[in-house]
Amino acid sequence: QAKLNGKNHFQFYTAEMEASLSQQTKLEARLKLALQQDEFRLHYAPVMSVQTGRLLGVEALLRWERDGVLIPAGQFIAGAEATGLLPGIGRWVLREACRQHRSWRNAGHPAVTMSVNISARELAEEDFVEGVGHALKETEMQAEWLQLEITEEIGRGRATRLCDRLKELKALGVRLSLDDFGAGAASLRFLQLAPVDELKLDGRLIAALGECPARQAMLEALISLAHGRGMQVIAEGVERSGQLEKLRELACDGAQGYWFGQPMAAGEFERLLSYERFHRKDSSQIS
Ligand code: C2E
Ligand code: MG
Ligand code: MG
Ligand code: MG
Repeated sequence: QAKLNGKNHFQFYTAEMEASLSQQTKLEARLKLALQQDEFRLHYAPVMSVQTGRLLGVEALLRWERDGVLIPAGQFIAGAEATGLLPGIGRWVLREACRQHRSWRNAGHPAVTMSVNISARELAEEDFVEGVGHALKETEMQAEWLQLEITEEIGRGRATRLCDRLKELKALGVRLSLDDFGAGAASLRFLQLAPVDELKLDGRLIAALGECPARQAMLEALISLAHGRGMQVIAEGVERSGQLEKLRELACDGAQGYWFGQPMAAGEFERLLSYERFHRKDSSQIS
């Protein structure tokens, strides 16, 4: 084999492989330590109603506090997935999100949907559904307030087998959201097959909103398609108020993004919950 590849090529290839392998081993060791030493944190991004401006829910986003620096999920999730440690980290995430939700409810805050990102690798784990059930039970969180975000990528290929797994999750009573829709190869088939409650439009679809009429027409069609299936539609990556106005015209249900602020620590998010509590009290007195 080495001869076939040619000597120089072979050596070059090996050196590269070795480098990435040792990097991966290092990351794996470091992530293991991070789990043991409790270096993971969850930050929370509000999901707001486009129609009423009220708080609809919250998305938990993983952070790694490493040497005093907070590293966002986007910078290490793929690496963690490659090391095979993601299911373990994911179990921590799920449990922590449920625990936090329970603790907010215990403190008298209003119930909002708690969304947790699930990667393909986690979803494929034999005991994943069982693990979700456990987390709910242990934390005494009501299933109806937990929403699992899966991505389109998961839907590629074995769509029917995946749908069976999603049905098992639905049987627990949790909600399912299809995250990053429109970022990869848009699978309309999956959108029609999957038992999902929510569609999250990827930020890249939202970015040019207001500048491109064709895109707007496409979004409008997507939103009405999702509504036709009884799904709620959330726009991701909203950064300008103009986008919100457009989304309202398009009958989009909710929005999230930097326009509402950076994802925040639990303590900071409690201020939004208090504000929502105040509003709900207000409207219950009127009605
Ligand atoms: P996502 O689920 O699509 O989450 C949204 C990402 O976009 C977050 O990055 C968030 O901080 C960022 N974001 C929010 N608003 C804006 C905006 O207005 N503009 C732009 N450009 N970006 C915005 P983050 O936290 O780095 O997460 C990246 C991805 O990592 C997430 O994408 C999600 O798929 C994954 N992820 C995050 N937490 C977890 C987790 O606990 N488990 C797993 N398996 N995956 C996670
Ligand atoms: Mg997400
Ligand atoms: Mg995601
Ligand atoms: Mg997304």
